[in-house]
Amino acid sequence: GAKEEGRGRYRMFEASMNARIQARRSLELDLRRAIARQEFELYYQPQVDARTGAFDGAEALIRWHHPVRGMVSPAEFIPIAEETGLIGNLGEWVLRTACTQALSWPEHLTVAVNLSPVQFRDGRLATTIRNILAETNFPPARLELEITEGSLLQNEQRTLVILRELRALGIRISMDDFGTGYSSLSYLRRFPFDKIKIDQSFVRRTPDDKESAAIVRAIAMLGASLGMKTTAEGVETDAQSSFITGEGCDQIQGYLISRPVPARQIEALFTRPEPVALRA
Ligand code: C2E
Ligand code: MG
Ligand code: MG
Ligand code: MG
Repeated sequence: GAKEEGRGRYRMFEASMNARIQARRSLELDLRRAIARQEFELYYQPQVDARTGAFDGAEALIRWHHPVRGMVSPAEFIPIAEETGLIGNLGEWVLRTACTQALSWPEHLTVAVNLSPVQFRDGRLATTIRNILAETNFPPARLELEITEGSLLQNEQRTLVILRELRALGIRISMDDFGTGYSSLSYLRRFPFDKIKIDQSFVRRTPDDKESAAIVRAIAMLGASLGMKTTAEGVETDAQSSFITGEGCDQIQGYLISRPVPARQIEALFTRPEPVALRA
């Protein structure tokens, strides 16, 4: 009867729920052991001056080499690390590793590190970062921290206090994925970001899609008038690059310049005797 059918369907639902919970739990267990087992690695993606094509620095992007699953995307494991509280240790590992590795780049180059909104729940975040800079001997002026709107959404007051502490240390703060949130504009009024990173979803559709082109143009103008640098992320084509440069964006980051690469490769790229011109 209908009742049994319903019960059967419920059991199937339950079975697939259990399977998902199991898969997640095992990923979580693996994640707990991954730092000690040295399964994480930082890749770096260069950021170039839009006008000259010279390197300005690179963004650190975490990679997890899982012994069985292979490469697991940060989009998959960062949320688990956030929900389990593991992001604290992981975030510190990322910062320490990025500062240590970027120390061997030419002195004018910066390193950008992504911070999770959850890391801002820790009132000692600024102190932790200051200690990492001291331990690694990395100049604060060469460190950029990328935050998303989520950080301000969760606890705006506490986040603003931490951001000001970080800024006082000489660290630069970037607003990542700009334009995708609900209150991006009001945050620009409340905190003087050093840099706005225009989200890939707009950049990808330029120059053909008129709406996206208009949004990129507006953000570039906004950045210029607020005294904030603008970076276009996800630049893949020459057409996007010329459009974005023409609109006055300061920086370009994307597969057109380079995919994210391991530390040794970025160092080789950065220490080449000849400056690499932006692909014409
Ligand atoms: P994000 O910070 O916005 O980083 C940009 C993402 O776009 C990276 O993905 C990068 O590989 C990708 N990308 C760059 N250029 C292009 C392009 O031209 N085309 C396309 N299709 N993609 C491009 P990835 O490395 O998978 O990282 C995804 C997200 O995971 C990051 O977005 C960031 O939110 C988070 N993430 C990565 N590393 C860390 C980390 O160390 N800590 C934290 N908290 N989050 C991280
Ligand atoms: Mg980022
Ligand atoms: Mg982004
Ligand atoms: Mg993103």
